[in-house]
Amino acid sequence: MQLKGFLIVLSGPSGAGKNTLMNAVFPTIPNLQYSVSVTTRPPRQGEIEGVDYFFRSRDEFDQMIAQDELLEWAEFCENRYGTPRSFVDNAIEDGRTVIMDVDIQGAAQIREQMPDAVFIFLLPPTWDELKQRLLDRGKDPDEAIHWRLEQSYVEMKHIVNYDYFIINDQLDNAAERLRTIINAEWCRVQRVDLDELQQLWKGRKKP
Ligand code: ADP
Ligand code: 5GP
Repeated sequence: MQLKGFLIVLSGPSGAGKNTLMNAVFPTIPNLQYSVSVTTRPPRQGEIEGVDYFFRSRDEFDQMIAQDELLEWAEFCENRYGTPRSFVDNAIEDGRTVIMDVDIQGAAQIREQMPDAVFIFLLPPTWDELKQRLLDRGKDPDEAIHWRLEQSYVEMKHIVNYDYFIINDQLDNAAERLRTIINAEWCRVQRVDLDELQQLWKGRKKP
């Protein structure tokens, strides 16, 4: 049975471990696709164009908005971030699970447009641990770390709008929870074409 895919929206404070978690589950979930965002933020050391982000100028980003190429976009800590629409649409049509890392503003826009998307909020075990992870990551200037920590207070209040939460204490545990959610979501009756399901009984015999 060929099912249509669906979208997983992963939000949570910067430094909670969204990218680390996604990298951890990728090798174990067939058919999982990461939606690469566009950003005006400069690349961090080690980030690769087209893999981590599509890095664009402000003008180029604004042109994408004007041409309706973005499914959603938002301004976060003085930079713009957005999701290219065509990739997500095509991957879902092809029956894939698409996962994206977007902030709370982007998640709100997607909630309006794609009600059958799955919304997951990733939490660090404590605020101190979040701060430590941002410091240890060592790839943002001090001011950017400060803004990300401030923003985490605002973001936490929006957890109520999400379907699931995952606490990223031990990475293995968090990865197991994410895999469990994805597997359960594939089993939702709402995602199945019921006519096609009835076909399973086509060859029935009278008892
Ligand atoms: P985000 O994508 O949410 O901004 P990252 O995936 O970049 O966060 O993770 C931030 C930092 O925290 C990285 O240095 C990463 O190695 C570390 N990290 C992520 N998950 C864990 C974990 N479960 N335990 C300890 N450190 C973690
Ligand atoms: P970072 O600069 O740490 O990579 O990301 C900062 C914030 O931007 C994070 O909260 C992340 O979830 C968010 N983000 C990344 N890509 C997108 C996107 O395409 N759209 C939106 N709205 N937020 C994004």
